[in-house]
Amino acid sequence: MTFRSKIILLLLVAVIVAAIFPIFSLLQLNTFDKDFKIYVGERVNEYVNTSEMNKSLIRYDSNLWKYVASGNPNWLKDAQEAKRTLERNITELLQVAEGNIELTNTVQRIQAMQEEYFRKAEVIAQSKGTIDEKSSKLTKEYNEILVKVFNETNRLNELKQNNLRKASVSVREQVNQLREVSLVLASIFLPILIIVGLVIYSTTATPIEKLTKIIKSVSENDFKDMSAVVKGSEEFIEKRKSNDEISRLARALRNFGQQIEDKTNELERLIITDEKTKLFNFRHFKSELQSEIARAKRFGEFVSLIMIDADKFKHYNDTNGHVLGDEALIKMAKLIKSLCRETDKPARFGGEEFAILLPKTGKDEAIVLAERIRKAIEEAVFVNQEKQPDGNFTASLGVATYPEDCTDAETLVNAADKALYKAKEKGRNRVEASPPKML
Ligand code: GH3
Ligand code: MG
Ligand code: MG
Repeated sequence: MTFRSKIILLLLVAVIVAAIFPIFSLLQLNTFDKDFKIYVGERVNEYVNTSEMNKSLIRYDSNLWKYVASGNPNWLKDAQEAKRTLERNITELLQVAEGNIELTNTVQRIQAMQEEYFRKAEVIAQSKGTIDEKSSKLTKEYNEILVKVFNETNRLNELKQNNLRKASVSVREQVNQLREVSLVLASIFLPILIIVGLVIYSTTATPIEKLTKIIKSVSENDFKDMSAVVKGSEEFIEKRKSNDEISRLARALRNFGQQIEDKTNELERLIITDEKTKLFNFRHFKSELQSEIARAKRFGEFVSLIMIDADKFKHYNDTNGHVLGDEALIKMAKLIKSLCRETDKPARFGGEEFAILLPKTGKDEAIVLAERIRKAIEEAVFVNQEKQPDGNFTASLGVATYPEDCTDAETLVNAADKALYKAKEKGRNRVEASPPKML
């Protein structure tokens, strides 16, 4: 999965989590609002209506008897006011009950009872005190129907109370549901969001940090050792399964490191190599000579040096030209290198002169190698070698060894050079060793 898709996934999850809760809450709020209107709002009205009815009934009854006792028409007015409230309550209840047959029947029954009650009440009112409140048959009937209406209304009231209770339970259930959903959302989606975030962090930020460390390690060692980058990014690529931007970056880093390493190696090789012969150059020979002598001094070892000089090379050059002269030098270098061991250090000393540094090598061993080289050059076929003064292309060699022939690097070179000079003197195409402590 690419880095880009991971980020998109994280954003998607974040958006979903962020959107689910408000959307759900809005939906829930909508149903809650509807339910509240239906269950609670209307039921409260019904409840208020029915409880008001009994109050009005009591008011009507008491005002009626006050009027009967006193004859004061104000009491009658009050009673009629209460009656109007009752009638209004009934009308409202009938409206609410529309569609609900059971409720309509109940309300209509109460309405019929109330009408009968009011008929009797009116007769009592018109009697203007002639009817005894306690004993007459009409009063008895009046009281009976009053109690009936009262009870019926009370029953209705209880019913309404129950409905109201049910409505409040339903509303509470919805609130609980909303709470549960938010809990579920919080306990499922938020951890998912956190996990997705952590996964993205560990698969992107952490690897990037690792790559940064690898790059830093290079700049810290002044770009000298690129192998740390190559190795580090190689391991990184192997461990990393996905082929995303970071893996591509790591591969680019590895290739970059590899190229720099190759270039650096090439540069280092060029710095120490003689361009023509591909042997070590004089500068490198000198520094190797110094460190080998220092080593030999410290550990009490031998270091031998063979100096090789082409015989009558000026003649060869003059006869055959510089190009063939160069080819002869290259051929000599190849022969020398092929006969050297891995630890020997063959170098171009300058012009047509070569030097071989032989660490941990005594004089006898060095003479054997020198003789082998001399013979190889003598036996090798060089272009126009027959035109040389002696009819062959040859070389002279001088051998010297530390510590028996000298005291340091400089005197070792001098000793070998002197031995070489002796070889030239003795007629060339030969090996001469430096006599011990000749200097
Ligand atoms: P000797 O046997 O005494 O060593 O005689 P020689 O002619 O080899 O010595 P001399 O020092 O007189 O001449 C060395 C010649 O080597 C002179 C120079 O032109 C030639 N030479 C030096 N370096 C190069 C090179 O890189 N290429 C070619 N073609 N010739 C070179
Ligand atoms: Mg020379
Ligand atoms: Mg020479």
